[in-house]
Amino acid sequence: MENKNDVISIIVPCHNEQEVLPFFLEEVEKVYHEMHKKYNTEFEYIFIDDGSKDKTLELLKGYSKENSRVKYISFSRNFGKEAGMYAGLQHATGDYVVIIDADLQDPPHLMDEMYKTLIETDYDCVASCRVDRKGESKIRSFFAHMFYKVIRKISKVDIVDGARDFRMMTRQMVDSIVSLEEYNRFSKGIFAWVGYKTKWIPFENINRKAGTTKWSFWGLLLYAIDGILAFSTAPLALSAILGIVLCCVAIIMIFVIIAKTLIFGDKVAGWPSTACIICFTSGMSMFCNGIIGLYVSKTYSEVKRRPQYIIKTKNVNKK
Ligand code: UDP
Ligand code: MG
Repeated sequence: MENKNDVISIIVPCHNEQEVLPFFLEEVEKVYHEMHKKYNTEFEYIFIDDGSKDKTLELLKGYSKENSRVKYISFSRNFGKEAGMYAGLQHATGDYVVIIDADLQDPPHLMDEMYKTLIETDYDCVASCRVDRKGESKIRSFFAHMFYKVIRKISKVDIVDGARDFRMMTRQMVDSIVSLEEYNRFSKGIFAWVGYKTKWIPFENINRKAGTTKWSFWGLLLYAIDGILAFSTAPLALSAILGIVLCCVAIIMIFVIIAKTLIFGDKVAGWPSTACIICFTSGMSMFCNGIIGLYVSKTYSEVKRRPQYIIKTKNVNKK
């Protein structure tokens, strides 16, 4: 094996992860020592404290004093995992960059295989995907599968079902990702959108080592809608098509009613059906307005150009 002295940056978004951080660092340090021996690689951890209310930041400060590999960025409030990952990617200096969750649901030992693949083949990214959703509720899995089916159909980017954010990428790919400065970030789509060659490593779902998930069902649903809005304009087309279809139905109905009146005369009847039609069509037009509204609101948040995150303290320099 050639001695390349590569630096691998490891980005770890953390939101209230005090229970799991000690386990995480222990595991990942094991991998560091193994890989350092094998490939002479150096690690640089970039922990992002995403507005944690527990002792996450204190722990990180402590680790950074004992271990020069540990760097941290602390946000002024909770900005969400997407902002955390973006901050990490912007600050990473390594030749290769890993994104990994703090809760040990992403097995750190896979980094060895990821690195080996990247240096030995022409892949630009090695990403992980879950082959099952063991330990997750049935209804959640059902909606997750539905989401991937829908987004794959209506957007041009190829988003793999079960894909996790856990991946190792080359510097070139990271620079491309960082160059996308959009405010409404949906990383799974962005990773696919920038292209490059990705190898997928499947692994079985692992439950959180400690602590609890930060995602509620509604949180995930809104995130899914964000994903669709960010990578597809198909809902807009759908609303336009719906409008056309309803107009056609209305025109046909006008002719039918005229014909009926001419043949049978006009008895004042049918107000309940009229009420239903009004309800239906106004509902549809509100639904379509809503879709347009969603895109307008996304455009609004883009044009404001607010920063993705605000840093309160950090011990890294690059940006
Ligand atoms: N996370 C974050 N900000 C948030 C929510 C989550 O940085 O607002 C981090 C969290 O600390 C963890 C990762 O994102 O490292 C994944 O979160 P979680 O395990 O709660 O999600 P799940 O695995 O259940 O999808
Ligand atoms: Mg998790």
